Amino acid sequence: MDQTEQLLKDLTEAHGVPGYEAEVRAVLRRYLEPWGTFEQDKIGSLVCVQTGQAERPRVMLAAHMDEIGFMVRHIMPEGFIKFLPLGGWFDQVLLGQRAVIKTHRGDVVGVFGARPPHLLTNDERKKVIEKKEMYIDIGATSAAEVEAAGVRVGDPVVPLADFRILANPKTYLSKAFDDRVGCALLVQTLAACAHAGHPNVIYGVATAMEEIGPRGARTAAELVDPDVALILESDIAGDVPGIKAEESSIKLGKGPTLVVYDARMIPNLRLRDLVIDTARELGVPLQFSAIEGGATDGSLIHLHKTGVPTVVLGVAARHIHSHSAIIHRDDYDNALKLLTALVGKLDQATVAALTQ
Ligand SMILES: [Zn+2]
Repeated sequence: MDQTEQLLKDLTEAHGVPGYEAEVRAVLRRYLEPWGTFEQDKIGSLVCVQTGQAERPRVMLAAHMDEIGFMVRHIMPEGFIKFLPLGGWFDQVLLGQRAVIKTHRGDVVGVFGARPPHLLTNDERKKVIEKKEMYIDIGATSAAEVEAAGVRVGDPVVPLADFRILANPKTYLSKAFDDRVGCALLVQTLAACAHAGHPNVIYGVATAMEEIGPRGARTAAELVDPDVALILESDIAGDVPGIKAEESSIKLGKGPTLVVYDARMIPNLRLRDLVIDTARELGVPLQFSAIEGGATDGSLIHLHKTGVPTVVLGVAARHIHSHSAIIHRDDYDNALKLLTALVGKLDQATVAALTQ
């Protein structure tokens, strides 16, 4: 495993559902430590400040630390655990998967279950089983056993999955690439910019609580007060069976993505064009995505104070919002190259010209 693979493994295997980002934050502090000084907002967003050759502009790079997960909602007398989702889960991806309950006494492992198919009628078997019919089974036979294991209502529940390099060694499988791939880019962009130099101050921000409707982005923007913002995200690959090109043309390995539209933000068009021009100069392939059914931290950051020129850059992932998403190393490396060059261009005059 090289440095990037180790970073992606450490970040994606860390447990961090919304409101419970401490483990991810600790990994990030360890990796970011050489590249700046830290600040933190009061709901958990971590800011790493790296001063370059000028005090302004303030360039905010933002990636969210949290991943989609669950919370313990109710302990049944028979020892099964009902849960509520934190973030957007598709019912079909859950049954048979493992999860970790983060209790005050340590980790408790369980599996998502429902009524076994053998005991269903033919009609029942054809229906999608919804989350509300499911439970987490930790192997207990009574509520007392669940409580003895340390489980409390309100405990965070994290999907359990490990990082793997696949048969094509440029493709990686793991949970939580949304948005630990952005967190990894944050670390390596700050490292690259420290070596290359930059005409601004970089605020590398790992935000808390994005997946439940962005929250940490608001408090972090208050702390940073950015002049310009680049959001580092995972994006949705459309190169799977059943998706038409007009629905998504994003393919694994064909370049980082530039989000031209999402449900809650239109990017600053001059900043968008600066991204396109910079990619061309570097020979970095770029893909364009429009996401009608989603939004990012950018939705809050671009509305900070009187407005902040903002754009979202992504690394495509297949099977996002499940225990096992897939990304491509070329997209990651090209995103890093593009980000580093962009930050190097964002001087006072360039940023001022974005909104004149
Ligand atoms: Zn995300």
